[in-house]
Amino acid sequence: MSKNHRSEAFGKTESGFLWCLHCERAYEEDDYRVVEKDGEEFQMCHYEGCNGSTVTDGWAWEDYREKHPDAPKKPEIGKVYPLYPE
Ligand SMILES: [Zn+2]
Repeated sequence: MSKNHRSEAFGKTESGFLWCLHCERAYEEDDYRVVEKDGEEFQMCHYEGCNGSTVTDGWAWEDYREKHPDAPKKPEIGKVYPLYPE
């Protein structure tokens, strides 16, 4: 298994979850999709069809919760947690 690019760059999250800035859903930190392009490996958001990257678009779940204190400690997989409340 390849190394997790994001945790190599920023360290592991406290919560073990990432929140994606593109699709506004959370997933387990190591549950990313691997996409190969031009011989390079990219680690992308867990959700099919999302072009968010773990490194540039993945927020640690605890950072999301800092702005959204009502969010649960452990996010629901597949659920959308909007950045801005309606
Ligand atoms: Zn995403």
